[in-house]
Amino acid sequence: MKHYCPNCETDTTVSEEKVSISMGKEIFTTKTAVCIKCKHYALTPKVRREIDEWGKRMIKNIVEPQPTFHEASHQFIEKKAAHFSMKKVPFIKALAFYYFNHIVNRADFPELKKYFASHHSEKHLSKGNKSKETVPIRYLMYRKLQTFSEVHNVSHAKAIEEAVLFGLMVLATDNDHFETLKTIAQNLKQYIEDFAEAA
Ligand SMILES: [Zn+2]
Repeated sequence: MKHYCPNCETDTTVSEEKVSISMGKEIFTTKTAVCIKCKHYALTPKVRREIDEWGKRMIKNIVEPQPTFHEASHQFIEKKAAHFSMKKVPFIKALAFYYFNHIVNRADFPELKKYFASHHSEKHLSKGNKSKETVPIRYLMYRKLQTFSEVHNVSHAKAIEEAVLFGLMVLATDNDHFETLKTIAQNLKQYIEDFAEAA
């Protein structure tokens, strides 16, 4: 079968072959059209659908990033998690995925980032030694995390650190006279509550 190969930049022959695609620690295998010259294959809608179906059935963790937080952040995470009757790791996940789903695509995201970069809570949350927290991630969350990591060129652990710190600062700045932030804080709390119920 003749087919245009974007890697060879010419029409080449493709044959139906088995391919292995890494998804975190797991490997997905399927059959698809592969360029016989360079072994290139496309992530066609069909392959993507198959990966989705495979991923949703997967009960193992796809990745287990280990973000590090300062002692003050760990303490604040524990305190806030307890407030929502949650354990530490699900709470970290709730903050992270609120950030990936609802914050990073906001038009005012750069301003929010700038605002927190010079905020006093940033200094406060950066006190004490740093230590790791293991955050097991399954497929659907992995997909969000992976997209963010690729777009912003950061590791999974760094992406979670950034997201969690943002959420902690939002929760720590309840009394700021800043309407946008108040709204974000309200929405975040609702999101965490829904997350706690589903967890
Ligand atoms: Zn090729």
